[in-house]
Order: sequence, then C-alpha cells, then structure tokens
Amino acid sequence: MTPYELIKRKRDGGTLSPDDIAAFMRAYTLGEIPDYQMSALLMAVFFKGMDSTELGAWTESMLRSGEVLNLSDIPGTKVDKHSTGGVGDKVSLPLAPLAAACGVRVPMISGRGLGHTGGTLDKLESIPGFRVDLDVPTYRRLVRDVGACLIGQTSTLAPADKKLYALRDVTATVDCLPLIASSIMSKKLAEGIDALVLDVKVGSGAFMKKPEDARALATTMVGIGQAMGKRVTAVLTDMDQPLGRAVGNALEVEESIDVLRGGGPEDLVTVTVELTAEMLLLAGVSKDLEAGRARVRAAIADGSGLRKFEEIVAAQGGDPAAIRDPSKLPRARSVSEVRSASAGVVQAIQCEEVGLAGVELGAGRKKTDDKLDHAVGFTLLKKVGDRVAAGEPLVRVHHNGQKTLGDVEQRLARAYRIGEAAPPVRPLIVERIAAKTTFVERIAG
Ligand code: URA
Repeated sequence: MTPYELIKRKRDGGTLSPDDIAAFMRAYTLGEIPDYQMSALLMAVFFKGMDSTELGAWTESMLRSGEVLNLSDIPGTKVDKHSTGGVGDKVSLPLAPLAAACGVRVPMISGRGLGHTGGTLDKLESIPGFRVDLDVPTYRRLVRDVGACLIGQTSTLAPADKKLYALRDVTATVDCLPLIASSIMSKKLAEGIDALVLDVKVGSGAFMKKPEDARALATTMVGIGQAMGKRVTAVLTDMDQPLGRAVGNALEVEESIDVLRGGGPEDLVTVTVELTAEMLLLAGVSKDLEAGRARVRAAIADGSGLRKFEEIVAAQGGDPAAIRDPSKLPRARSVSEVRSASAGVVQAIQCEEVGLAGVELGAGRKKTDDKLDHAVGFTLLKKVGDRVAAGEPLVRVHHNGQKTLGDVEQRLARAYRIGEAAPPVRPLIVERIAAKTTFVERIAG
C-alpha cells in the first residue's frame, strides 16, 4: 500500500495491517516518508482511533525503530516512572534521585514539553551544563554506577517517538489515547526496564480530562507492558490544577530541590512520595507501600536524596553548585503580578490555560525548533481552596520583557475562578491499577 492509500484507509475508518504499519513507521523513521504524510495519518488516527491489533503493531514498530536495551548485566531491579504529562509536574526530578538513594536503579528516558505540558528534559536543561543527549554506553554506565540517568530519546533509542513526539506537539495530535499509549510504552520498553510506574494525570491540565478516559489509558498501557513481560503499576493522580506552585523550567528545578531539602508544597511532596514508594515496591526494596513511603521520607530527611541529585547532575555534565545554591539557576530579569479582581475563594484554576500561558511566555514551544527561555514562568501564590482579597496577587510572573506578557497575564487572570463557596476537596491520588491482577483499586473519587 502506498502512504497515500494507507492514510486514506485510516481516514475512511478502515483498519491497517501490522505489516503496513511497520513499513510506514520504518520509512518515516528513515526520512523516506515526509512529516506532512505522517501528520495526515496522525490526524486520521486521532479521529478514527486504532483497534488493539493496530495499537500493538504501532507500539511494536515504534519500539523496534531503534535499539532495545538489555540492562540485565546491571545488578538490581531497573524501575522507571513516566507521567502522561501535566502542568507544574516536576515529580521526576526529586523522584529519580530518591528512588536511586533507596537502592532502585532508575533508567529514565524522558520527553520535552508537549502541547501545554512541561517536559522533564527542558527542566533539566535549565541546570547549567546538564546534558540529556548522552550516548547509550554512558547511560548504561551511569545507571550502574550512579543509580539513575535521565536522557532523551536518541537516534538509536526509540527514534520514531523522538520524531513523532515533536510532530504531534505542533499538529494538535497529542491528546489521543493510542498515540499517547504507544509513545510512552515504546520508549519505556526500549530503555531496559524491568518494571514501570505510570503516573496517569487526570483533570483540566491533563490530556485525559475525565477519569474514565484516564482509566482507559492506564489500563491500555498496563496491558501493553504486561504483554511485553514487564511489571507495571499505574496511578491516576489529580491534574485539575498545577502541581506545586512553580510552573516554568528553572523555577520547577528550584521547587524540586526544595522537596529534596524537606520542604516544598505538600501536593508535590505527596505525589512524589507515593510514586517513589510504588517504585520501591516493584523493585522489592520495600514490602508494602506504607514501608516504601516511610523509606522515601527518610531519604528526604537524611539528605541522601539531595546528595544523589547532586551526583546525577555532576555525572550528566551539570553544575552541582546550582543544586546547592539555586540562585545559580537561570533567573528572569523582571517579575510582575496578576491580581484578583474580586474577593472570595479560588474555586478552580483552568490548568491547561496556565500551561498555554507558559508556552506563550516562552517556557514551552509553539514550533518544534523554538528556543525556550528557561528562566521564565509562574509562581502560583493562590491555589484551589485559598481565600483571596480583591486586588491580592494570584500569580507572580517571571519574565524577560517578552512581548506576549500582556496576553499571558490576561490568560492567567481568566484561568482563575473566584467565588463564594469553598470547592469540594479533590483527592490527589485518585486510583491505582496494578499489573499482576489488572485489579482496579479505587482509592477515592
Ligand atoms: N508523554 C509521552 O511520552 N508521550 C505522549 O504522547 C504523552 C505524554
């Protein structure tokens, strides 16, 4: 089938054969099929979906687009965590060193900002000198010797996802269950893990806004992992408002350091501890979640998580002095404030709007080759449930005189809903879907 015929078949609601999918993906990875044809196919998939055979073939062809690592010569259980993406979601930064400090080996292939969501690689690159483009031998060595390594897709590891991820980011084809599931699972299965914790975000700042969609995504990914012989646990966590108070690359690194120092916002600490405890459980380091949580909190309290973060930063070419003294991270020249027009309680924060405001300010990309300003972003002074007086600041905007500042401030003001009544409290940890049993444990919600 020619690329044209294949696109047409999917556009018209037909089913693609595994061979056709594999051939299209191979040709795209090699540059023989142009971005505009892949964009058309992605949009057709967005509207028509994929059945489970197509999804299996699509994921497998992305996985096989590059090398599939085998880290079995490195002692210990290799466990990663991956988030489906959110706003202010910097959990990987404190989580990787905490898990490593507790004895888990963490091979982590992360992504860049996607749509309105931030990316771990962009945040890490705000640390002066930090390199996310390490080669595979170095990645192996650091997983073995340091205990964790955080890199991006390379031309050898999941190269199809590297290209597709950037393309979906600018063609409005991100929030699509089969495309998210295949993107995440292909790169996770390529990196040499034994087990995986998936943080499936749900709410106004997530790609999956509704719990039933998030649950379907989680179950799909757990199923793919299980079919490939990996232990996978998915945790649905709340993303109806930004996580923590910082949004923007260097600001989020600073907040992550606060967590490792024993401070940081409570919601961020709770999600970090929970997901790290899930990793400890999968690795067999702790016997149950409660013991895992206690172990992670101890690694925060005794400073071993923070020391491990410095070690990771130094090993990946970054300046550990910036971790000891975050004033060495990029800083915006100016700060402005968005103030509340009325008095009341913050009833909701349109989380996707906050993410898009960040992109508008230069913390994320509108085009694949956009350069980021790592220093810019927001500090949310008020979060859902907080009381606010008329004229009181809601958000501090860290900027470098961007032309878009006025629009950004207006977007942020619109993102806040202030009213009389206190909103119901939403649980942060919504649901847990464990691999072995595909048993869905409803924690709340
Ligand atoms: N994270 C990924 O790695 N891929 C997606 O498609 C969405 C979130």
